[in-house]
Amino acid sequence: MGAVFHRRRYFAPFPRGLSMVVRAVVLDIEGTIAPIAFVRDILFPYARKHLADFLADHGDEPAVASEIAAVRQAAPGMDVTKALLGWMDLDLKIPPLKALQGMIWQTGYDRGELRGRIYPDVPPCLRAWRERGLALYIYSSGSVPAQRLLLGHSDAGDLCPLFSGFFDSKIGAKREAASYQAIAAQIGVDASDCLFLSDVEAELDAARRAGWRAAQVVRENDGTVGSTRFPNCAILPDADALLESWNT
Ligand SMILES: [Mg+2]
Repeated sequence: MGAVFHRRRYFAPFPRGLSMVVRAVVLDIEGTIAPIAFVRDILFPYARKHLADFLADHGDEPAVASEIAAVRQAAPGMDVTKALLGWMDLDLKIPPLKALQGMIWQTGYDRGELRGRIYPDVPPCLRAWRERGLALYIYSSGSVPAQRLLLGHSDAGDLCPLFSGFFDSKIGAKREAASYQAIAAQIGVDASDCLFLSDVEAELDAARRAGWRAAQVVRENDGTVGSTRFPNCAILPDADALLESWNT
């Protein structure tokens, strides 16, 4: 009797439902859950094409005017539209440019001219993970408002409710371990219980240096070259086998 009681107490901290080691899955967007071509060939050209009209139509609105003022400060004496187009050509991540691109995309999504392209294997997989108690997060270099637009107006509907939080480069660069330490601290999950999924090996290296688990999503469509140092997933559900193997 005493022995049974003792054994029960011993097993009590490991109930079946909580046996999974990974508790949080953090996902990159481009090349991981969305085709790189969507951002490169649809989103960025859309912002470029509509920039001049957007500034003419909305330049007097306070939110837009303050970004225009920030452009003038960063590029003194330059024509605002020309300065922004030049930054776009160089793919510079200058805050007022990112803010204005986000506003232009917002109008595009609102008008139904833009719709976020998400790989079809992603939504059912994310729903299944949520049902199993995993917390889901996004960590992308695109701004959090841009992330919410893409996921909120996706071709699979509004995917934002599936996520417990969103991170962008404000928390740190994706190739630095400190960023992943900061994310783990913020979501309150031990580093070893966090899984990062991305197509870029250098980002996975940074996550691993922070003590995270990491796997590479290798989308044939994006031309991703598979790493030999990380488990490869051709589609998101391939990570299920990894999650299972990491069970305690
Ligand atoms: Mg990526």
